[in-house]
Amino acid sequence: MKRIMHKIYVLFCALALIAACSACGSQEPSSTNSQLNTLPVIGPDITMASKEPSSEPNQTEAETSKQTEQAGSSEAPVTEPVQTTEAPTEPATTQEPETTKATEPTKEQTQELVPNVTNFVTEGTNGYVIVIDPGHQEKGNSEKEPVGPGASETKAKVSSGTASRFNGYPEYKVNMEVALKLRTELLKRGYTVIMTRTGHAVNISNIERATIANNVNADAFVRIHCNGSENASVHGIGIYYQTPQNPYNAALHDEAKALNGCMLRHMLALTGARDDGLVESDAYSGINWCKVPAGLVEMGYMTNQEEDAKLQDGAYQNLLAQGMADGIDEFLSTRTPREHN
Ligand SMILES: [Zn+2]
Repeated sequence: MKRIMHKIYVLFCALALIAACSACGSQEPSSTNSQLNTLPVIGPDITMASKEPSSEPNQTEAETSKQTEQAGSSEAPVTEPVQTTEAPTEPATTQEPETTKATEPTKEQTQELVPNVTNFVTEGTNGYVIVIDPGHQEKGNSEKEPVGPGASETKAKVSSGTASRFNGYPEYKVNMEVALKLRTELLKRGYTVIMTRTGHAVNISNIERATIANNVNADAFVRIHCNGSENASVHGIGIYYQTPQNPYNAALHDEAKALNGCMLRHMLALTGARDDGLVESDAYSGINWCKVPAGLVEMGYMTNQEEDAKLQDGAYQNLLAQGMADGIDEFLSTRTPREHN
């Protein structure tokens, strides 16, 4: 496990370096298709240092290409809800997990541009490693990256996500709040937990997020998001993963389906939310680049007033987190830990 932790440490040092470069304004030329063709294949340990994302904010949605095919079931709404950054009834930026550990980020720490490395990884004892990706970040990055290994099609590196249509509270904050609750829940159960981010002012592309999970050979990679729709009546929980024909990682389809089926069933049971289904799609770069079982959990719709209020409610967030943890437990109960080398 020490080797793993060292590897993770190196990885996050690289990440911190990137964030630092962004902060001081160093920028690479904006990506073009021709440049993308020369983008190095993302591999273990070299990933983050090979690219320097721009610090330019951009509201372009990263993963909206399938919006028209899957009406109301993607990670951002077809029509943008209010994008105000500060909500009138803004809860705490991050809610402290119930069991506070020495490595838990404080509210101040989560606001830092370069979070403390020790915030990212919390080691458990049961042999399994779960990587949690709180979707999006404060400012999007519209530079492009391939939708999958070797792909010519590109998408924005990461978007700032959606927001409540009713009070403007941003998705990236809800995602973080639930992610921290999930971390707490998983730590209680003995898992080693790795966060792709613990702050909002970061610049981490979807490929980079997947690579964090790949590099540690995670037993599960859980991406946490909120949904949106033009239709305000649409609500429910859905989970996205690759099709059996995915050109990049079809071999992971069955395991992803098993993981996500477990998570969805337990989340629905605990929350009473509507079943928005298991959705198979190859439009998500953060899924296509995965080498481990992954799911993008759309916890509810910020365009539905009742569900949006729940998504911002701490007690409901706990149910979402517990449901995910119960699903992970069930999925892994019949699987031995992967080699975390
Ligand atoms: Zn999202």
